[in-house]
Amino acid sequence: MAKNYDAIVIGGGSVGLPIAFFLAKEGLKVLCIEALPSVGQGQNKAAIGGVRATHSDPAKIGICLKSLEVFSAWEETHGDFISWKRGGYCFPVYRQREETILRNLLEIQKASNLEIDWVGPDRIMELVPGIVPEGLRGGTFSPNDGQVSPLMFSASCHFRAEEKGAEFRFGERVTEIKLGKGDRVEKVITDKDEYSAPVVVNAAGAFAKEIGAMTGLDVPVTPDSHEAGITAPVEHFLDPLVVDIRPGKDGKTANFYFGQAATGQLIFCYTPAELFVGTDRDETSEFMPVIAQRMVELVPRFKNLLVRRVWRGLYPMTPDGVAIVDKVEEQPGMFLAVGMCGQGFMMGPGVAVNLVSLIVHGKPDLPDDVFNALSFKRNFGGKVEALK
Ligand SMILES: Cc1cc2nc3c(=O)[nH]c(=O)nc-3n(C[C@H](O)[C@H](O)[C@H](O)COP(=O)(O)OP(=O)(O)OC[C@H]3O[C@@H](n4cnc5c(N)ncnc54)[C@H](O)[C@@H]3O)c2cc1C
Repeated sequence: MAKNYDAIVIGGGSVGLPIAFFLAKEGLKVLCIEALPSVGQGQNKAAIGGVRATHSDPAKIGICLKSLEVFSAWEETHGDFISWKRGGYCFPVYRQREETILRNLLEIQKASNLEIDWVGPDRIMELVPGIVPEGLRGGTFSPNDGQVSPLMFSASCHFRAEEKGAEFRFGERVTEIKLGKGDRVEKVITDKDEYSAPVVVNAAGAFAKEIGAMTGLDVPVTPDSHEAGITAPVEHFLDPLVVDIRPGKDGKTANFYFGQAATGQLIFCYTPAELFVGTDRDETSEFMPVIAQRMVELVPRFKNLLVRRVWRGLYPMTPDGVAIVDKVEEQPGMFLAVGMCGQGFMMGPGVAVNLVSLIVHGKPDLPDDVFNALSFKRNFGGKVEALK
């Protein structure tokens, strides 16, 4: 006999965990099924923990403003330290090209209630001590963005969801989803058991396509690999997370970013100029020399840092760089929270608030016209988001 729930969430990662939490908070009987041995062990733990509402798409801005509300109040509300740091996000600029891109985005960002502005070179030098001053034109700064530890948040979110009655099955892989009359979702079958629920949420990250295929859906999510690293802790000197959107002279990097965690370590990452499509998570010998060169060129004092560890994880990408958060019209009860690209951690709580509102109240938290940008049925051949 299948065990009955009100809702089943497939995937206990950046997005599935807050969804389970907010569903349980609404009083639903929730089961979250995770193939790995504990929470956040998929791509969640690969994230460097940057949380920004500084995007170019109003839906992503709205989602992340909600996430920031949740993250910034988490410790006070639940008593758990999640390494939240409100240091802002800073995009320093050295060339006309990037200045035009970032200045053009300010209008849409401000219209979406994001606190952000263009600041001069002196302010950038205060925000990023040691940044090379030659040619610095200024940049944007959004003071309310910040950072969180993905591991600390996922652990806390798991415990708080359980407190609210959510159940978790770890080390259990979903292998089949059965539809019933009218293609309504009915059962989720795993390698260990079977469960039934009128609501099933696909939050399987890089493997969302495989879960979609179980009911014949073509979910356009393709993973690609990104590397990151972390240094030994140093005395706190850097508030914002810093993003340099210039493509590298190295020909290897599209942009790069770094920040200092509340616990002192510098964390850093770059977007490869040519994406590594697939699920390869082995670190490369190329990453460290390339990122070190870019970081030291921008902030020479970084040459003194001691790098502790590097790793490689996956971005669950959609063709236009925007997530899919929607119900599946032709399969009543089926919901998608997938394709988070490089922003799934920061989007998690905001996606959860909106999706849970859609499930429980029939409408998202954001206005429909804004939320529709995340629709499953949109034209994915359209424009690619400027600040992916
Ligand atoms: C180097 C790097 C740096 C990053 N930095 C940031 C950052 O600073 N900020 C940010 O917001 N994002 C960042 N990201 C992106 C972020 O990590 C992802 O977007 C996010 O983790 C995706 O969340 P998710 O819940 O969709 O996937 P996941 O967190 O991977 O969760 C999906 C879960 O589903 C499970 N699953 C899959 N298939 C099955 C199945 N059949 N049965 C049961 N369970 C299943 C998986 O095991 C997994 O745990 C970064 C990523 C990388 C690689």
